[in-house]
Amino acid sequence: YRKTLIAGNWKMNKTPTQTKAFMTELKGLLPKGRWCDIALCVPAVCIPAAVRAMRETRVAIGAENCNAHTSGAYTGEIAADMLVDAGCKYVILGHSERRAMGETDADVNAKLHTALDAGLIPIVCCGETLAQRESGVTEEWITMQIKLALAGVPEEKIRRIVIAYEPIWAIGTGETATPEQAEEVCQHIRTIIRKRFGSKNARAMTILYGGSMNEKNAFELLAQPDIDGGLIGGASLVPEKFVRIIEDAN
Ligand code: 13P
Repeated sequence: YRKTLIAGNWKMNKTPTQTKAFMTELKGLLPKGRWCDIALCVPAVCIPAAVRAMRETRVAIGAENCNAHTSGAYTGEIAADMLVDAGCKYVILGHSERRAMGETDADVNAKLHTALDAGLIPIVCCGETLAQRESGVTEEWITMQIKLALAGVPEEKIRRIVIAYEPIWAIGTGETATPEQAEEVCQHIRTIIRKRFGSKNARAMTILYGGSMNEKNAFELLAQPDIDGGLIGGASLVPEKFVRIIEDAN
């Protein structure tokens, strides 16, 4: 009754040439038949190569960021409708690595509205630091991040949004959250959505876990009732690993 999504986040990895090689290899490994939704969010310059390679497949392409404005004097930035025109379906917003570069909750919210207006599916990231977890403020922190990110979103648009829970202490550290820890927060996120947008929308929302998810631990994480998929960094750079996670999601 809600979609499973396995999404890769390449971050600042791979050139367009390497993208083409990766996609060719991935195509050869993808299982046939009906599978979960699959996306690869790639560096902006890799989008054309990725879209071209994956045209006839079930793999959608996404970006890792977009600007909050629709156009104008923003040197070096990329607008949501440029991404749509280039063939993107998804855009990651509010990743902790971008927040660490100065992106605020208000920025994430503005980008979310722009992305929705352009027709992209935003994958909105939230997550606590280790210090926050240890001091017991995880739930409050996540509640605040979600509320601020989703401010002003009308009820009819909430189903166009994917939320990713990515504890910062688990990103790129090899230290995955336990299935119980991940489930607890993803369930909490669904409760926040239920309170704001009603139980029907909460039941339909796709909530991902991210943070050192790989081909070894994905099955157990994806078996949790409120974890509907993964946002995968390192393991999405290797076709065999990414495919094994897709297989675990089915
Ligand atoms: P890793 O899977 O490399 O820990 O990265 C997770 C992430 O940040 C995905 O957005």
